[in-house]
Amino acid sequence: MIATVTREGVVAWLRAFAAAVAANRAYLTDLDAAIGDADHGINMDRGMQAVVGKLDGLGDPGGAGESGGAAAGDVGALLKMVGMTLVSTVGGAAGPLYGTLFLEMGKAAGGAAELTVAQWAAAVQAGVRGVQTRGKAELEDKTMIDALAPATEALNAAASSGLSLADALQGAAEAAQQGMKATIPLVARKGRASYLGERSAGHQDPGATSSWLLMQAAAEVLVFDAPAARPGA
Ligand code: ADP
Ligand code: MG
Repeated sequence: MIATVTREGVVAWLRAFAAAVAANRAYLTDLDAAIGDADHGINMDRGMQAVVGKLDGLGDPGGAGESGGAAAGDVGALLKMVGMTLVSTVGGAAGPLYGTLFLEMGKAAGGAAELTVAQWAAAVQAGVRGVQTRGKAELEDKTMIDALAPATEALNAAASSGLSLADALQGAAEAAQQGMKATIPLVARKGRASYLGERSAGHQDPGATSSWLLMQAAAEVLVFDAPAARPGA
């Protein structure tokens, strides 16, 4: 039985990320207080609570759904719904950037009911490219890209060497964590922290930290054994 990324898995991932953001709301805000305007935890928590509200309204994942209806029925539609919710509820830089991440992931996932490791890697890559197109950040600019780009690379490497989904997601979370830690000595070249110039060095980037939480949540809950996860299958 080969584990794939299913709609149920993605819902579990989004809920786990929302819980991690809520639990780390003060931490993310403290990191932003050091090199920004002390709102990253607040912004992300507001957005992810709105996402959880939408998920609660979708009804039974396997069923036709009511308020969510067919629109959020497959992995792609679900991810696009998340992206639109974040864009419309989160201010600041992170809202549109995370919104773009999920929207582009959703477009790449298309109408698939479940994704293989390679398809998941491609979706994440499309999302991260979208963030880069929108925010123009490169590696080592001290942004969320410093966690997301290494995670994408790890996923692609895992897909081409045929690793299991669980191992691929674990590798991505570890790569994101390393990338996050590597932001500490960097001087910010994008976003609010760049206004501080050299004084931004010595602090971990808040967006890279929330992006690590995102990848960590995937490693924790995204793996579902597809056939067993569906009643009657
Ligand atoms: P704001 O900076 O508007 O207050 P947040 O505090 O919610 O928004 O988010 C700050 C985070 O956004 C930063 O830590 C950084 O990781 C990320 N960020 C800012 N600008 C960019 C950009 N151009 N590209 C990628 N990420 C960025
Ligand atoms: Mg901020």
